[in-house]
Amino acid sequence: LILGCRVNFAESYEWQKLSIDLGFEIVKTNKKFDICIVNTCTVTDNADRKSNKSIINLIKKNPNSEIWITGCGINSPEIKLVKENTKIKYIKRENIKIELEKLIKNKKEKYENKETYDLKTRAFLKIQDGCNNFCSYCIIPHTRGREKSLPEKLIINKINELLKEGFKEIVLTGIHLSNWGSEDNFKNGELSYLLKSILNNTDIKRLRFGSLEPRFFNEDFINILNDKRVCPHLHLSLQSGSDKILKLMKRHYTKKEYKEMVDNLFKNVENFSLTTDLIVGFPGETEDLFNETIDFIKKIPFSKLHVFPYSKRINTLAYNMPNQISSKVKKERSLILREISDNKQKIFIEKNLNQIYPILIEHKKGEYFSGLSPNYIRVWFKSNEKLNNQILNIKIQKPTEMKNMIGAIGKVENQ
Ligand code: SF4
Repeated sequence: LILGCRVNFAESYEWQKLSIDLGFEIVKTNKKFDICIVNTCTVTDNADRKSNKSIINLIKKNPNSEIWITGCGINSPEIKLVKENTKIKYIKRENIKIELEKLIKNKKEKYENKETYDLKTRAFLKIQDGCNNFCSYCIIPHTRGREKSLPEKLIINKINELLKEGFKEIVLTGIHLSNWGSEDNFKNGELSYLLKSILNNTDIKRLRFGSLEPRFFNEDFINILNDKRVCPHLHLSLQSGSDKILKLMKRHYTKKEYKEMVDNLFKNVENFSLTTDLIVGFPGETEDLFNETIDFIKKIPFSKLHVFPYSKRINTLAYNMPNQISSKVKKERSLILREISDNKQKIFIEKNLNQIYPILIEHKKGEYFSGLSPNYIRVWFKSNEKLNNQILNIKIQKPTEMKNMIGAIGKVENQ
C-alpha cells in the first residue's frame, strides 16, 4: 500500500519487483494477502491521519495478515498508535529487502511460481533521495537524511531493465530531483547531463519527471524538454506567492525569480504545462500576504495547483513560529485556491482542444480507457479493442470530469 509522494511509489515498485523475483505473488489490497507493506507518508498531519486510517482498515479487513509499516511515518506518534497489534512490524525502509529475503528462505515452497498482475505501464524510478535544504516547515530532511544520488551507470542499467520488462514510460523521482548528482563524488553532477545520457543510451519511449525544486533551467534542459520522448510537464513547487512568506519558509528564490524561470519555460518549450504546490496558512500569512499569493498565481498559466493547509511538524523551525493561523482560516484559504485551481485546469484543457497527443493507455474502467497526454491531461475515450499499455494518438475533444478528476474526452485518431 503506497501513500504519499512519487518517491514512495518508486521505492514500493522496487519492493514489488524484488518480491516477484523472490517468488511472491503480488495482489491488490482488496484481495486476501499474507503480508502488506505500507509505505507511509508524514509530510502533513493529514498524511499521518491518512496513513493511520489505511493501516486500521487493513487490520480490520485482514486480522490474520502481517502488516509491515515503513516509510517516512515510521516514527510518527500518530502512526505508532496502531502498535498494539502483534501482527504489525515497524521496519525501516532500508531493511525491507533483507526482511523479504529472510522470509523467502523460511517459506520457500509456499511462495514458489506464483503469477503476478500486470504493472507494466509507467515505472517510477528513484534516482535521488534526501534533502539538504531544511525548509522551515518540512520534516523530510529528518526522515530521509541528506542528499544521495544514484550513479549514472546504475540509472541507465535500471532503465534498460524496466524497458525490457515492457514499461513504456519512466518517471524519474527524487526528493530533491533538481539536485541530482550534487554530492562531491559526482564528476558530472548536473541533471541535464544525466538526461542526455538517458536519451542517448536507452530506447526510452517516454520520460517524465517527478516534482522538481525551482531553479534556473539552462538551455540544455530546455532542449531536452523539447525532445519528443520527454514529457513537457514540470511540477515546480512554488509554496507561496509572497516574498515575505518564502523567506520565512527558507525557500531560496523570490517570486520574481520564479516568474522569470517559468516565463522562460513557457516561451521556449512546446506545449509546456506547469503544476505546482502551495502551502496556505503558513505562520505569519496575513490576509494581505495571502492575497499577494492569489495575485501572483493569477499571472502564471498553471494547469493545476496542489493546495496544502500548513500543518505543524515537530522538529521543524516553523513549529515554534509566532502568528500561527487558525484551522478555520486555513480551510477557507485552501478552498479559495482550489477553486482557482479548478478554473485554471479547465482553461488549460480548453486551450488544448482539438490537439492530437500520443496518450499512454493505462487502464479501462467501465466503458472508458484512460491515459495521460505528455503535458499531463487525463484523457478518457471509448474503444472495444484491447489497448492497455499502448501509445495512441488521441484527439482532445471536450473537457470533462470523472471520478473527481478534471480531464478531457478524446477520440482515437487514425494511427
Ligand atoms: S526542498 Fe524543502 S520542502 Fe523539499 S524536501 Fe527539501 S526541505 Fe522539504
